[in-house]
Amino acid sequence: MPLYDVVCSKCGSPRDSNNIVCSSCGSPFLIELHKDFSDKIDENYPYISKRLLNIKSHIQDQVIDGIHMEGLFYTPTLSYKDLGMNTLFSFIREKNIVHKGSPVSEDSSGNAGASFAFFCNVLGYRAEVFVSKNANPVKMSQIRNYGAAIHRIEGTREDVEYQAKNSGYIYLGHQYWPEFYDGFRTISYEIYQNYDEIPELIYIPFSTGTLYLGVFEGFKHLAESGKIEKIPELVAVQPKNACGMYNLIKGTNYKRTSSIADALTGVTPLRSEVLKRIIEDYGSIRIIKEDEIINSRNYLLFNGIDIEFSSAIAFSAARNDRNGQTKMVLMTGHGMKNMKLNDQASAL
Ligand SMILES: [Zn+2]
Repeated sequence: MPLYDVVCSKCGSPRDSNNIVCSSCGSPFLIELHKDFSDKIDENYPYISKRLLNIKSHIQDQVIDGIHMEGLFYTPTLSYKDLGMNTLFSFIREKNIVHKGSPVSEDSSGNAGASFAFFCNVLGYRAEVFVSKNANPVKMSQIRNYGAAIHRIEGTREDVEYQAKNSGYIYLGHQYWPEFYDGFRTISYEIYQNYDEIPELIYIPFSTGTLYLGVFEGFKHLAESGKIEKIPELVAVQPKNACGMYNLIKGTNYKRTSSIADALTGVTPLRSEVLKRIIEDYGSIRIIKEDEIINSRNYLLFNGIDIEFSSAIAFSAARNDRNGQTKMVLMTGHGMKNMKLNDQASAL
């Protein structure tokens, strides 16, 4: 048996060459591992010889009101996206998918764009980042600092994706490439390696579900390798203003409007059927109102934890939930990313 397979998330067909969607049904892929967990993190990624950068997410663990706050953003661009881009770009480089100097495109609400621009700069690719007209200005300057070109698109998040895909450049959209979400398995491994006990509940900000999926796969791998007894309950958290996944699971029809949690787009995720099954079988999903997101962010800020609204939302879900159980919040982006949004928040 091979050490891993890459299969269609819908019909199970194997991936041809390095396509981003299945040639039979057009769905994106999943990575399936067939080897036991290794304490040497790189050995859990059999499709690359070594990750480009040795990024560790677990730099600090602070406890606020009994909740473990797990920082994932002490990384090059101050967001957890670097953990996914690290495996994606390692793969792209090792398979020679892009030649130095070639233009590559990505669509993003900001954090992925900044991370993408950083890794393109490391490998000498020409980064073309597509964003929506009202994208967060701090993230835009970050993208520019790495030398990337920005294309601002009028329209919905889906329009931005369409433009990036049809730009004529090599499309490296992070939602599509399975090597991106797969990078987030490292988060589960680090939690396993750094805590005596895995918390019972883990709260995860949910946008397109790549973080959720990667963290789930990491814990599943640990459970299948006999390292942990069970997969902790993973709680997906979305803004009420941007809750595509919640609507899909609960059958509600909350309208998508803008949220102070600008990194959480609220679109229906690409692998929505897979994510729905995982959430229903192993997790749960919650939605949070804007004023609660702002309260949590301010509360954490005054307690010495500066994170973006899009991360603080997970704390909102955790603080009023099932007391008595052990809880952890995954903090995805540094508060620096909010600089220009602060006035907007105080006006609310
Ligand atoms: Zn298929």
